[in-house]
Amino acid sequence: MASSTSEAIRNGVAKAARLHEQLGSQTDMVAQLGSIDVFDTISQLDITLLLRPLNGLLGAYLREPAPGILITTQRPLSIQRFTAAHELGHFYLEHKPSLDDEQVLRRSPFQNRGLPDLQELEANTFAAAFLMPRWLVMQHCRQRGWTAVDLQDPDKVYQLALRLGTSYAATCYTLQRYNVIDPSVAKELLAAEVRTRKQRLLGDFVPENYFGDTWLLTEADQGTSISGSRNDLFVIRLKEHSSGGYVWNLDQLVESGFLIVQDTREALDEQGVGNPVFRNITAHLEDSNYGRVDLTEQRPWQPQEPLSKLSFDFDLSGPELEGLSRADKKKALLAA
Ligand SMILES: [Zn+2]
Repeated sequence: MASSTSEAIRNGVAKAARLHEQLGSQTDMVAQLGSIDVFDTISQLDITLLLRPLNGLLGAYLREPAPGILITTQRPLSIQRFTAAHELGHFYLEHKPSLDDEQVLRRSPFQNRGLPDLQELEANTFAAAFLMPRWLVMQHCRQRGWTAVDLQDPDKVYQLALRLGTSYAATCYTLQRYNVIDPSVAKELLAAEVRTRKQRLLGDFVPENYFGDTWLLTEADQGTSISGSRNDLFVIRLKEHSSGGYVWNLDQLVESGFLIVQDTREALDEQGVGNPVFRNITAHLEDSNYGRVDLTEQRPWQPQEPLSKLSFDFDLSGPELEGLSRADKKKALLAA
């Protein structure tokens, strides 16, 4: 057990890195970029995990009779995931049992302020370092061609948070910890509202509510894995070379279970005829929670020769529901 703040932070980061090594996470992400599946890790380590409506608690870690984790069903997926990683930290760091409420989990995972003890700080640091290892943050930024300057923009940080499967605030704290942004930028980012990010992206489309997340998908998402929730919205923004006769074929999006609620074209900055346009498609999932999208930009008369494509796998079955986690259910099915 750590005896100082700095030791707790060091331990949390080091143990998260060790677990990733043990799991071979980095190799998996090279094969397909996405978020760390913490529920799958807990399942692999044979720790009993149950989801329940927990009054006033986000999660708990128990040791008797066997290691067990409880996670609330009353929060969005990103909070469930952070709580699960925190409880996994208690297990992996061989901590005492713990009941965890908002007080413990809403703070910066890299500061001791307001935390009851060093064990909680250590588990929080573990959670952040496990869900957002530096190499994964960098891999997502490389995929999108983003540099440190881009990460001063709250819209981009929000999109990064969605791909990491973490909350916007936890992502800001972690970028500051990695010295990608300085404390004053982190403060400004933390003051920015997530709802505004969603509204800016959706433009004049007004959803029933803003509970779900809003993803911006572009050709930079090619080959990735998207993991979100049933009520998430998607803005798919694609460059279309219509003057050359090319159009994006959206049939496959509909076949994958998405409902298109808006489809517009917008001129790019340049003037003149013959320039590409942006195709902006707003959609949400209607049927099935899992699947794959394969969109191609093609000439209708030459469909076999696409100019560009956007393919991604999706799992939008979050948040985790009462009972076993999705990972444990999958494991039980495979064993049957
Ligand atoms: Zn705790």
